[in-house]
Amino acid sequence: MRIFDPHIHMTSRTTDDYEAMHAAGVRALVEPAFWLGQPRTSLGSFTDYFDALVGWERFRASQFGIAHHCTIALNPKEANDPRCAEVLDVLPRYLAKDGVVAVGEVGFDSMTVEEEKAFARQLELAVEFELPAMVHTPHRDKEQGTRRTLELVTESGLAPGMVVVDHLNEVTVDQVDEAGCWMGFSIYPDTKMDEHRMVAVLQRRGLDRVLVNSAADWGRSDPLKTAKTGAAMLAAGFSADDVDRVLWRNPIEFFGQSGRLLVDPDLADDASDAGSDASATFEGNSILRGSRD
Ligand SMILES: [Zn+2]
Repeated sequence: MRIFDPHIHMTSRTTDDYEAMHAAGVRALVEPAFWLGQPRTSLGSFTDYFDALVGWERFRASQFGIAHHCTIALNPKEANDPRCAEVLDVLPRYLAKDGVVAVGEVGFDSMTVEEEKAFARQLELAVEFELPAMVHTPHRDKEQGTRRTLELVTESGLAPGMVVVDHLNEVTVDQVDEAGCWMGFSIYPDTKMDEHRMVAVLQRRGLDRVLVNSAADWGRSDPLKTAKTGAAMLAAGFSADDVDRVLWRNPIEFFGQSGRLLVDPDLADDASDAGSDASATFEGNSILRGSRD
């Protein structure tokens, strides 16, 4: 099984996770810029974070045989903090970089005026940079948030096929499907969407325009939920080709629209990549801690 996790926050994960993901078949991922739990108080903490996403984290993933891409944005939650407003001005610098495959996560958290302004502005940037957009839907008021999200997408002029609306469930999927956007599903360990509910959604509406992700981050989450969804699909009678479509070819098709993928789309299913050199360095730093003698 070859897996492309289209939404996972590796900055918050360990080297054990990288090893387990590689063993489960993960060969590529997208790490969206998001909220770190602790509020940021200045522009500098955002630019350092964005630099880490396109630099150190990509290097770290490469040491485990995984191609790391990212998306860049001012996230919905911090769009409410006036100290973070300047972030919007530095985004163009990052949206031009290699391996930045979308604008995101954008969207709504609490559906405020500030969130809507930042969201609309960033959809404009997606149009300007000809990039897809990754849209977060609120965990509360999900239905109304999704409806307003789709209105803003229409107003932006960004083609629906360039937009993934994420964290969907059985209630919100149909309106996103009708709008022609891609449908993202985050599979969580104890709450919300799980792999069995995901399989039922796939049985009901098919495999078109569906992305399945672990959304693993600093909260309770599981970076192997993509592989577990693949296993649940097989157990439910889907073919290996169906699993490959959902877990590999669909994310390649969606993020390939950026023209900036760093992974071979035809990567062999059983590719055991050339062993990485753990002593390799990024700006003088390696993933080893000190020397071994
Ligand atoms: Zn996320």
